[in-house]
Amino acid sequence: GIKGSNLKIAVVGSGPAGFYTAYRAMTLLPGCKVDLYESFPIPFGLARFGVAPDHPEVKNCQEKFEEVARSPNFRFVGNVKVGEDVSLNALTENYNSLVFAYGASIDRELGIPGENLDGVYSAKDFVGWYNGFPQCFNLNPLLSDSENAVIIGQGNVALDVARILLTPVDDLRKTDISEHALEQLSRSRVKNVKIVGRRGLLQSAFTNKEVRELFSLKNCSFVPLEDKYIRDYRKDLSSLKRQSKRLVDLIDKYTKPDSMPLPKKWSLEYLKSPLEFLPSNKNSSRVGSTIFEENILTEDKITGSFRALGSGSTVTMDSDIALRSIGYKSTPLTGFSDIGVQFNDKRGILVNEAGRVCGGSELKPIPGFYTAGWLKNGPTGVIAFTMGDSFDTAENLVQDYNLGILDLSPKLGFDGIKNAIKSRVVSWEDWEKIDKFEKANGAKLGKPREKFISTEQMLNVLG
Ligand code: FAD
Repeated sequence: GIKGSNLKIAVVGSGPAGFYTAYRAMTLLPGCKVDLYESFPIPFGLARFGVAPDHPEVKNCQEKFEEVARSPNFRFVGNVKVGEDVSLNALTENYNSLVFAYGASIDRELGIPGENLDGVYSAKDFVGWYNGFPQCFNLNPLLSDSENAVIIGQGNVALDVARILLTPVDDLRKTDISEHALEQLSRSRVKNVKIVGRRGLLQSAFTNKEVRELFSLKNCSFVPLEDKYIRDYRKDLSSLKRQSKRLVDLIDKYTKPDSMPLPKKWSLEYLKSPLEFLPSNKNSSRVGSTIFEENILTEDKITGSFRALGSGSTVTMDSDIALRSIGYKSTPLTGFSDIGVQFNDKRGILVNEAGRVCGGSELKPIPGFYTAGWLKNGPTGVIAFTMGDSFDTAENLVQDYNLGILDLSPKLGFDGIKNAIKSRVVSWEDWEKIDKFEKANGAKLGKPREKFISTEQMLNVLG
């Protein structure tokens, strides 16, 4: 038979990692069957719910995923939350191999006083709000009476949030940003955005490509970086890594202290860790300012990494809204202990060796279980990285297959569990129907798509 025709794989999660792993495995083993389980009725994970609406080119990966989905050896099993609508035991009984690629669905908290005040949001929720993520529809961020926003964290997500807050609303209208967000952003009075990191300029987690987009915003000026954060690097540019040198150049290029101030402004703030959110004078349930401790950067001579040490002195920044953007986190699935795989709670990843999931008393790879994407590595990396890394996982799965390590006894796959699934299964054809509706709804508004904002709405169009 065709190579791989005795192999049935279940992939959990239909984000980039799930699709790229499926794609690579199906390419190397053209006979294998892949069923991809997804908790939402719609595919693509953060390529739909994370990637900013003004980054449409990033979503081109979806065309590749659609090609994968058209293969007769592929099945989309949407609206099925693994661990709830179907048990892990049922999956292991009916497949030769499982790939966990379910991403990172919660966000880290700062754990400081005042975090529950009105006006303090997680970037994850804010992103979900403008991207039509069902649970975030009701966020209603307090924008219409806010001037000063503080964003804590300096990854690409933080910059996405800053850009959405600062971009003229008319430029967002043509994107697939959700209508409710557009409407509220059009009433926003935010005009001053500070993006705060706990370490120094060269430890900024964002990419130069993303920060350049902020520099290019019309209507918005960059507040010159305080000299103390950059002057040492300027002195010795040739010793810097290419990427760091480029960042220093970018900042110098866009620092125009004498130019006319524009209506909105943004700044990068360094060496500050948040200590506490304080209520505003006018409203005790609402945030008004954020206290930061100033840090000193120290280098660990052994690892070469830089750490921030508190100096004891503090600064206070006005913040009518504050957004924490300090990372996403994965959580274990119900049933991991039944199948013996080990989840690392501290790092929020499934313990693995190059994508081979580990467990047992010796924490060794368990044949048949694999992981990819943010669940495998932690919540960092752009889609291009997730792709290459998911290919590695698939190649290791195929290697185990070739070495005869996998249990290849006949399995029923989807047929073995379809009657046990507790939810209404959404097929790829169903998703295509939802997709058509969303595109049609978008077209009426001059947008590529208007997303349904609840699972119910998605299922309703299927009748
Ligand atoms: P995800 O994309 O999160 O996919 C996981 C999937 O698993 C989801 O569909 C989820 O619903 C599903 N799932 C979860 N639990 C279960 C369960 N129990 N059962 C079944 N299914 C489940 N990268 C870029 O290259 N460019 C960008 O501009 C960019 N912008 C980003 C903006 C934001 C705000 C974020 C957060 C990320 C961005 N990224 C960007 C990074 C990119 O989104 C990730 O690299 C990529 O999505 C990670 O893929 P993943 O498959 O591991 O996880």
